[in-house]
Amino acid sequence: MKYILLLAVVLGTFWLLRSLRKPKLPREPEAKPPAAPASPEDMVSCAHCGVHLPRSESLPGRGGVFCSEAHRSVFENQRSG
Ligand SMILES: [Zn+2]
Repeated sequence: MKYILLLAVVLGTFWLLRSLRKPKLPREPEAKPPAAPASPEDMVSCAHCGVHLPRSESLPGRGGVFCSEAHRSVFENQRSG
């Protein structure tokens, strides 16, 4: 019975320490560029013309992300041939 009480105290101490420590933001495995300002959405730049656009509006390609279908095909054609 003594051990149960001891366990409760230990668990309580751990819980207290955890709640005292501010939870840090989980680190994402993908490294983000530090130059990007705090924005609600990730900004990416077109690999062909360099224009910045939200990630949701970008087109992923083989050499990066692109602002439009045209730039993606131009970039990939340049690389392939
Ligand atoms: Zn572009």
